Amino acid sequence: DNNKKLSLTARIVIGMIAGIAVGALLQIFFKGSTIVEDYLTNGLFFIIGQIFIASLQMLVVPLVFVSLVLGTCSLSDPAKLGRLGGKAVGLYLVTTAIAISLAIAAAVIVQPGSGLELETEAVFEAKEAPSLAQVIIDLFPTNPFDAFASGNMLQIIVFALLFGIATALVGGKPGERVKALFEDFNEVIMKLVIILMNLAPYGVFALMAKLFSETEFGAITSLGTYFVLVIGVLLAHALITYPIILKLLSRMNPVMFLRKMREVQIFGFSTASSNATMPITLETVTKRLGVHNSVGSFTVPLGATINMDGTAIMQGVATVFIAQVYLVDLSIADYLMVVLTATLASIGTAGVPGVGMIMLAMVLGQVGLPVEGIGLIIGVDRLLDMTRTAVNVTGDAMVSVIVAKSEGALDEEVFNDANADVKER
Ligand code: ASP
Repeated sequence: DNNKKLSLTARIVIGMIAGIAVGALLQIFFKGSTIVEDYLTNGLFFIIGQIFIASLQMLVVPLVFVSLVLGTCSLSDPAKLGRLGGKAVGLYLVTTAIAISLAIAAAVIVQPGSGLELETEAVFEAKEAPSLAQVIIDLFPTNPFDAFASGNMLQIIVFALLFGIATALVGGKPGERVKALFEDFNEVIMKLVIILMNLAPYGVFALMAKLFSETEFGAITSLGTYFVLVIGVLLAHALITYPIILKLLSRMNPVMFLRKMREVQIFGFSTASSNATMPITLETVTKRLGVHNSVGSFTVPLGATINMDGTAIMQGVATVFIAQVYLVDLSIADYLMVVLTATLASIGTAGVPGVGMIMLAMVLGQVGLPVEGIGLIIGVDRLLDMTRTAVNVTGDAMVSVIVAKSEGALDEEVFNDANADVKER
């Protein structure tokens, strides 16, 4: 009956397109109508959309903890962990550095900010970029429940790794029982993920309908070059850089990879949060791309937290743009500073909506550009946030595949099977 029923991917795509269309129509024909705004946009659509995002977020902490403990205690050799972690972190940093360099190069060539005279809209305060020492110290929780409660992903990862290693070391009856318990929990939580994915067409529809009914698209025209340039570099990174890296480092088929990533990208796009998308990323990476859970349960949450290539691209273009608007000349050393700060800042900040702007404030502060410059671009940031989140989650999955392949933990048959796991849904 798979032929009669539309695939889940198709249904989610339809939900998204229908949401955009309905939102746009509401914006065109019912702008200012209180009934529409009270009962639809800020009523029904808002409620459904928020519940959808909340239920995704609800799964993140338990899912990461359970699947990572399970992944760690089923690693045959805990020494593997160090190597695995090194590869993942290395690749995440390198891909981010490539992304931001690409963005800076494109912006220096295209000059999106030259000749523009813009008024800033908002005031923005820069926080200092975290020091490397603090980033490392902050990895370790003093109280795991505090880390769970506040959703501090890196601390949860560290606790889960330690817990998993200890479970493996204990071994015997107790070790087996704890492992079996986590296996069962994992099944149950994964079931919840699948249920949620089946409701996604409605959730995505509601999010898009609300957003497109109230976004002022007029702002885009005055910032057209900036906007188009960010989108262009994002697309180039996802459709050119990633396939090349994937092919070079893992010899896997990039077309198959991108095809299977569509759902994850739509989730990223409509929630604008790598964090909230994580359950779907993990499901796709382990069930559809064939990455073994012992790798995916580690690389995916790590990536959702520290790997933000799309965000780095926005920061690269935005920095050059703001420098041009304020007629500041940046030196090569400044650009290197931008690459460094943006990469470091991405480690210390979680993948939630709008966080890219906070990181941008750090970057601007670091190279002495006026932080108010953010006021220039914040008006068009929502759509860019959505698009770059789709790129961020694609990067997380790609690195997971490469690391898994190099560790002999990639099931290539599953990767190459276009229909892998669709029955499950
Ligand atoms: N929303 C992005 C993410 O979650 C981060 C950002 O660029 O604001 O990945």
